[in-house]
Amino acid sequence: MVRTAFIQRKVLELYQLMDTISYPIQPQKIIPCIPKSCRILTYQTMAELNRCSIRDIAIMCKSNSGATHHDVEQNRYLILYNASMNQGRILWTLCHEVGHICIGHLETIEEAEIAYTDWREPYDQFESEADYFAWNMIAPLPIMREMGIRTVTEIQTVFGLSSQAAALQYDRYTKWCRSHIKTAWENNMLREFRTKHKC
Ligand SMILES: [Zn+2]
Repeated sequence: MVRTAFIQRKVLELYQLMDTISYPIQPQKIIPCIPKSCRILTYQTMAELNRCSIRDIAIMCKSNSGATHHDVEQNRYLILYNASMNQGRILWTLCHEVGHICIGHLETIEEAEIAYTDWREPYDQFESEADYFAWNMIAPLPIMREMGIRTVTEIQTVFGLSSQAAALQYDRYTKWCRSHIKTAWENNMLREFRTKHKC
């Protein structure tokens, strides 16, 4: 089960640490706010540094889009992403990876791997949680309403999502507008947005 309240709190913590808020969210501005040591590199740079192909890096990362490595001894994180993707996809990938770091998935996986070598159960949950983090980071529903968002195209242009992702978020948004109950998280997110939003 996705720990929605816990993940929303992690998103709020980053919003509270950002000096200004503007959309589309710039992952480069979020990284320094993560309370952990974290660097970011493209597959392309990593391939040059290691004198190998971009394909080799993708195989090492087990992904064509991106991955995060945790250096346990130094307690440092490295996010790698494929810069040949479109902007919407890069934004999504980076926020998804930041989600894994902020939620603490990588520490859990290492502990799990030490304890149970064939323990696969949490991985799907971790992917869903990182996605949930990314949605809340990139286009928070209360902020969408505050901005008066009305169409899929607006979601796409304001928040930098791909057309497919924007359509999915539009679906969530309309359902949420119909049935949502105001929460403390929503109030706190709106407070950050109202004081720090720059067009
Ligand atoms: Zn993931």
